[in-house]
Amino acid sequence: SDDGVPGRVRVAVRLRPRNAEELAADADFADYVELQPELKRLKLRKNNWDADTYEFDDVLTEFASQKRVYEAVAKPVVESVLDGYNGTVMAYGQTGTGKTFTLGHLGEDDTSSRGIMVRAMEDILAKISPETDSVSVSYLQLYMEAVQDLLVPANNNISIVEDPKTGDVSVPGATVAEIRDQQSIVELLRLGEAHRIAANTKLNTESSRSHAILMVQVKRSFTGREDALSSEIDNSSHLVKPSKPIVRKSKLVLVDLAGSERVHKSGSEGHMLEEAKSINLSLSALGKCINALAENSSHVPIRDSKLTRLLKDSFGGTARTSLIVTIGPSPCHRGETSSTILFGQRAM
Ligand code: ADP
Ligand code: MG
Repeated sequence: SDDGVPGRVRVAVRLRPRNAEELAADADFADYVELQPELKRLKLRKNNWDADTYEFDDVLTEFASQKRVYEAVAKPVVESVLDGYNGTVMAYGQTGTGKTFTLGHLGEDDTSSRGIMVRAMEDILAKISPETDSVSVSYLQLYMEAVQDLLVPANNNISIVEDPKTGDVSVPGATVAEIRDQQSIVELLRLGEAHRIAANTKLNTESSRSHAILMVQVKRSFTGREDALSSEIDNSSHLVKPSKPIVRKSKLVLVDLAGSERVHKSGSEGHMLEEAKSINLSLSALGKCINALAENSSHVPIRDSKLTRLLKDSFGGTARTSLIVTIGPSPCHRGETSSTILFGQRAM
């Protein structure tokens, strides 16, 4: 397979295990989703004799561990970021299907349950050299087209700045925290999550209605030959004169997207309607950009939303992008499941 090929979005699907309520409601409700992980296939049953079949880069069953999910979905992107390229990992799906568990779970009681954010930071910390390299993060929330700093929530409505020469995207109004160890990333994510809940309570909305974005900046310095950009520097080339170090900056963006469920516009009014419109705008803009990449189209409509503007330099081009779509097992969500699967399919 074309693991981590730049310019193409890798798409995995993950099924959440049944929760207590679902188990209690019906011990053997008909499995309308059938996963064939070896074949990387998912079947969506239409009735007793007919099903639609979809293929993904990875099919992660309810038994897939967090480690397995990290390795399939995020590790290739993290490795490419360590080599100096930008990358994005996003989770898309209906509220309650496991986006936050997949990306943001802290696993403080059980380290095996840690999600992608902690694992990615741990991987980066393990591979960079503390004397010459650095890693720092900003943690943002995007709600109704406003960017808010989750580390210092008073920083709200922050501008997204694009360097006219390099095209690099930055959010200079947000706090940048340098990370030196795994404990500090866990603390920082916990703080960000607490601020996210508090900010949303104040706005009378739920965290599931905003996008949470962890922006990780990696700065590495490579010494040796010009082309020795990988950490394996060829020690046998004695003839090469040591040159001054090459500094490479790269960015990893981890996005826990707002719930993709369609809010019934007919029943919503005022603020709720505006909120629904804003989520629809950003997710559909994201969908259009992903489709454009999948179709190799020269026009990627990145400016249509703040979400896609934030992702501009970590999406397409030489950047690597991985999307995990999450679905639930309950047949009462089949409409949402089916639209989530179609979103994932259009990315391929
Ligand atoms: P979302 O962020 O998509 O709204 P959550 O990540 O909050 O969904 O998941 C909903 C609930 O299901 C949470 O209690 C979460 O811990 C649990 N959950 C989700 N995925 C898994 C999983 N793979 N294994 C165990 N529990 C899970
Ligand atoms: Mg969530």
